[in-house]
Amino acid sequence: MKAIQITATGGPEVLVLRDIEAPVPDDDEVLVDVLVAGVNYIDTYYREGVYHAGLPFVPGLEGTGRVVHDPQGEIAPGTVVAWCDAFGSYAEQVCVPRDRLVAVPEGVDPTVAASMLLQGITAHYLTYGVYDLQEGDSCLITAGAGGVGLLATQMAANKGARVYSVVSTDEKAELALEAGATEVFRYSENLAEIVRRRNGGVGVDVVYDGVGRDTFHESLEAVRPRGTVCLFGAASGPVEPFDPQLLNTHGSIFLTRPSIGAWTSGEGEFRMRAQAVTQAVVDGTLKFRISGEYALADAAQAHRDLQGRRTTGSIVLHVQD
Ligand code: NDP
Repeated sequence: MKAIQITATGGPEVLVLRDIEAPVPDDDEVLVDVLVAGVNYIDTYYREGVYHAGLPFVPGLEGTGRVVHDPQGEIAPGTVVAWCDAFGSYAEQVCVPRDRLVAVPEGVDPTVAASMLLQGITAHYLTYGVYDLQEGDSCLITAGAGGVGLLATQMAANKGARVYSVVSTDEKAELALEAGATEVFRYSENLAEIVRRRNGGVGVDVVYDGVGRDTFHESLEAVRPRGTVCLFGAASGPVEPFDPQLLNTHGSIFLTRPSIGAWTSGEGEFRMRAQAVTQAVVDGTLKFRISGEYALADAAQAHRDLQGRRTTGSIVLHVQD
């Protein structure tokens, strides 16, 4: 089968299309023909070696496609499914853990199905789990027009929260406002001061920060005493080590570094969040923006665009028709 295989970690150029052997599913997996693979920022961490995987490996964690073979005979061949957490999804076939897939409801666009779970579940656990926003709460979301950003903005706004979004361009500002942001700001050294001024002179209840190194200290500044800073990613690089005493000086604030793994590990939790996201897609209360569609062979360009901040919403790789 054709797959993007990484034999040495590094820049986008290490994403090379090769012919490799198709994987064979264990009993707790299902073999799937991949139609569309989702591209996520986490894929770049594996590609660069920031997150470790044994070499050689096929990157990618999510997608949509048709079931080829279920060793337990529970899922009929041809069933259209979507998944996240199936390492090796940038390929014509992948083995998907059976507890990490969902049936795709009829009418859902395959490009949306391919990107809805990883980013959708993340936005869900951030806004309903890590800090369960209530009506009238306020939040700050960095990279507000990105994949997770646009979804978290919609969920937070639907819950009646005030959403302050941070983006880098006018186009991204428009998109964040369309998604329900109350106000949109640019990254700046006095971002926290601006946010507090617009938020009635107080810090926000929660900051959802997926940018990391470049925004972390403004995130600590922007939150109210005893508020929560949720550092969920590192698009600008990992945060430098710091003295925990800082959390005290900012008013006994809470800092968490959550993962989708931990926030879907409870009994039935993956299914609950996946169901909520899928239902919201079907209802039309959660809209996905797919700003980039690439051929599997062009995975390197997809990574360049993602890391070059040229994408908005989600991006995908078309693997098979
Ligand atoms: P995005 O679509 O949000 O792309 C990243 C965005 O980050 C860019 O578009 C850009 O938006 C912003 N950014 C700011 N600074 C930089 C920089 N120096 N280099 C590149 N981008 C920068 O990606 P995803 O939605 O896939 O992921 C967003 C974040 O969420 C990532 O950090 C990812 O690791 C994290 N994540 C965490 C999960 C978890 O469970 N912990 C699960 C899923 C994602 P702008 O130009 O507006 O600044």
